[in-house]
Amino acid sequence: MESLPIFMRIKSARCVVVGGGEVATRKVSMLLKADAAVEVIAPELCEPLKVQFLAGEIDYLQSTFEAAQLNGAVLVIAATDDEGVNTAVSNAAKAQNIPVNVVDSPALCTFTMPSIVDRSPVVIAISSNGAAPVLARLIRAKLETMIPASYGRLAYLAREFRDAVKAKFSDTQSRRIFWEKTFQGPIAELMFSGQEGAAKIALADAIKADDSHAQHGEVYLVGGGPGDPDLLTFRALRLMQQCDVCVYDKLVSKEVMELVRRDAELINVGKARDKHTLPQEEINLLLVNLAKEGKRVLRLKGGDPFIFGRGGEEIETLMENGVPFQVVPGITAANGVSSYAGIPLTHRDYAQSCIFTTGHLKLKEGQQEHTVELDWPALTRPNQTVVIYMGLVGLAQICVQLIAHGLDAGTPAAVVQQGTTSKQKVVVGDLSDLAIKVATAELKPPCLIIVGHVVKLREKLAWFEPNL
Ligand code: SAH
Repeated sequence: MESLPIFMRIKSARCVVVGGGEVATRKVSMLLKADAAVEVIAPELCEPLKVQFLAGEIDYLQSTFEAAQLNGAVLVIAATDDEGVNTAVSNAAKAQNIPVNVVDSPALCTFTMPSIVDRSPVVIAISSNGAAPVLARLIRAKLETMIPASYGRLAYLAREFRDAVKAKFSDTQSRRIFWEKTFQGPIAELMFSGQEGAAKIALADAIKADDSHAQHGEVYLVGGGPGDPDLLTFRALRLMQQCDVCVYDKLVSKEVMELVRRDAELINVGKARDKHTLPQEEINLLLVNLAKEGKRVLRLKGGDPFIFGRGGEEIETLMENGVPFQVVPGITAANGVSSYAGIPLTHRDYAQSCIFTTGHLKLKEGQQEHTVELDWPALTRPNQTVVIYMGLVGLAQICVQLIAHGLDAGTPAAVVQQGTTSKQKVVVGDLSDLAIKVATAELKPPCLIIVGHVVKLREKLAWFEPNL
């Protein structure tokens, strides 16, 4: 190790920054974050520092640098663009044994400032000892995406309950096990999903209960997006990698399934349309039972769980059974698929609103044929985009009805197959010919229908063409 990583308490301590420019401003704000008493020494200040000085956040000595100004400082940073001054600051600080950092001059420093990931009170510092600062920053970016933003709040929660846990578990071994469980189980997940009050109650209960080693299960209702795994949220990915069992249906793409933890048990509850599918009530109960066995259950759905995903029904049953859960939104098909098809859903000139609806065929009592029952007047208003989920089979009927209820037969419309994936296909037409074109193209589900003048924009904006 070329240098010793340490965290230094500088609250209310006099820290001197020599230089009044932009670089100095960045260093000042870092020192202020750690509650230092910052003094800036420079012949003049840039605007942001002036503002901070006038607001009383920093002290300012208007002067050129002299060694005696460092007396009593616990830390010095030189951030001028004059090498001579920077060297003088470094020498003066070293003579008084004050730690000194000279920006961009490792040779003049006795300490360097790391790249940090701030989850206060948890702080991660990364340094390449000047060898490759850009690499250190890239590592930092990786950690930023891996570590939930709310880790800091989790640490504060732990601090609040530290004494209670100490009182309950006398030996360090059982305390360690208790905290490991807490930081990786439902209580941590409650914190991460913003349910701080519930987390506190659960933690207090866990400390009280004698069965602190018992397993408590939970359910993550996660949106897997429209297909491209890059469209998953950080949270979705994290939960996918920590589940014990994954309950998924056919809409979730293979590429997304690849990212589920390898050791997790996989349960497929939805096969192709009209073939065997587990009834919704049974899925709801399956989730409850798996969680009650103490498992971390990932309920993975295509798109967003709350948009034509029946996610609401699933968590209703979880609530009734007291199973902890969280919901992670995903990019819904309308959103992801339209983007990848180069069709903006709204546009200043063509559409000021957008409706998502389902084109599912239904068999009405007493009728022989399946029909699409929709609020046609609402769908045929001008300056609006209509996005229809589950409409492939009913496409011909839908087009006929839209025309019958007042839309021009020439209204542009598109069907997108398996949008965002390498199998994406887009068929564009208008309400009079779309159904025929789609039949000829032999599109396969899932397919999304988009109706409205925005579809024309694809001519200019198409950017994702995996099959060309
Ligand atoms: N909860 C999902 C929708 C489930 S309904 C979501 O938010 O996206 C299933 C319908 O979604 C399909 O019939 C199809 O219309 C649409 N769909 C989902 N993924 C799609 C994709 N990659 N390409 C095209 N349509 C898709």
